[in-house]
Amino acid sequence: MRSHDIAETVKENTDYFPIFLLKIIIIITIIGIIEKCSHSVFVGGYDMNLYDVTIIGGGPAGLYSAFYSGLRSMKTKIIEVQPVLGGKVNIYPEKILWDVGGLPPTQAQQFVQNLVDQAMTFLPTVCLNTKVEEITKQGEIFVISTDSGEVHYSKTIIVAVGGGILNPIKLELAGAKKYEMANLHYTILGLQRFRGKKVLVSGGGNGAVDWAVELLSVAKEVVVVYRKEQLTAHESQVEKLKEHGVEIILQAEIQSLLSNSHKTAIEQVIISQNGEEYPIDVDDVLICHGYNREVSLSFADDIQPVRKDDYYLVSQGQCKTSIPGVFGAGDVISYDDKVNLLLGTFQDAALAVNNAKMYIDPKADQYAMVSSHNDKFKEKNQEFFKKTIR
Ligand SMILES: Cc1cc2nc3c(=O)[nH]c(=O)nc-3n(C[C@H](O)[C@H](O)[C@H](O)COP(=O)(O)OP(=O)(O)OC[C@H]3O[C@@H](n4cnc5c(N)ncnc54)[C@H](O)[C@@H]3O)c2cc1C
Repeated sequence: MRSHDIAETVKENTDYFPIFLLKIIIIITIIGIIEKCSHSVFVGGYDMNLYDVTIIGGGPAGLYSAFYSGLRSMKTKIIEVQPVLGGKVNIYPEKILWDVGGLPPTQAQQFVQNLVDQAMTFLPTVCLNTKVEEITKQGEIFVISTDSGEVHYSKTIIVAVGGGILNPIKLELAGAKKYEMANLHYTILGLQRFRGKKVLVSGGGNGAVDWAVELLSVAKEVVVVYRKEQLTAHESQVEKLKEHGVEIILQAEIQSLLSNSHKTAIEQVIISQNGEEYPIDVDDVLICHGYNREVSLSFADDIQPVRKDDYYLVSQGQCKTSIPGVFGAGDVISYDDKVNLLLGTFQDAALAVNNAKMYIDPKADQYAMVSSHNDKFKEKNQEFFKKTIR
């Protein structure tokens, strides 16, 4: 057996952000909405950078909040730690989404593009590559400190950080890291790369089994290796693997990786099962062992929101947290009957924004005007008809 050293568990996320994501950044840059997130500038005693709403997290909940906040005429900023918007959906860019209301089956990367386009309708300020570290309060104003040392000021905050900053749990095996440039993967950025290949998928939860199912359409062969007695993913997905005769090796795990003669890629995976070891030839290896959650966002002692499981913000109704002026949307907010799906993020976002509006202006309407009666869309509707009706 080969000598073991510990593979790095935190990965430089460069391989998570392929060309289509770069395109999103370019589009945003072209329309001139990414501002250099600067320190506040005070002019005549007025803070030029005071926002009505600052949304922390640019995933689906944050993006829809930005749209809705613009609809309610609030000066809006999104702060996102990654170099791109879209949140967790960027983990599964090729997946086809079937379960978002009003949307025919759509690839996740297209869904992200749609979300971003919609979020930019009212030109919010967007700060990318910016990790929010601490929220404090000075008088009535929230002060948002970031990893770059920059400080942002806001009347209200919508926390939309999902499950935190996610880093895939790496394979802790000798030399594993060097294969990441070749055929060791932690997610799938494009299915075509696996056409005609034999792929070993390690893991048995939803992430692993969903990918194994997707791979069936292109791969020559898929093998699933899992350490537990049963796969723990949704039954219907597990059934699909069985129907396709996928080899599922249970109570087994990857023991070591053997490289080709050039030492550039993995050629064989050594599996251990019930005290025995045996090799499996592979073209590619996909590791789906879950994610480490980095929780970087904290609140000052005097504005500690009520949490569940030391993380989730507990809604006090209508996506309000226990701290007046701080709202939550998406996976981070917890309440009974919560739907932790994309569709649930939209409802949360609307509630959070409407309540932020009323926090700033208690006389404001509780709800935004619907599209059909909303003057904000008059001009935009005309542009839309010009473009689409010939
Ligand atoms: C593999 C997989 C498949 C899925 N498939 C489906 C599906 O088919 N249908 C469905 O409806 N749902 C699906 N989901 C669930 C769906 O993706 C989530 O419910 C949704 O992304 C939640 O959106 P969000 O905006 O709340 O959080 P996220 O998408 O997690 O976005 C949160 C954002 O906040 C950022 N952030 C975190 N901390 C900070 C910080 N301190 N400072 C700045 N930014 C920060 C993160 O970088 C991230 O961009 C799937 C999830 C996974 C993991």
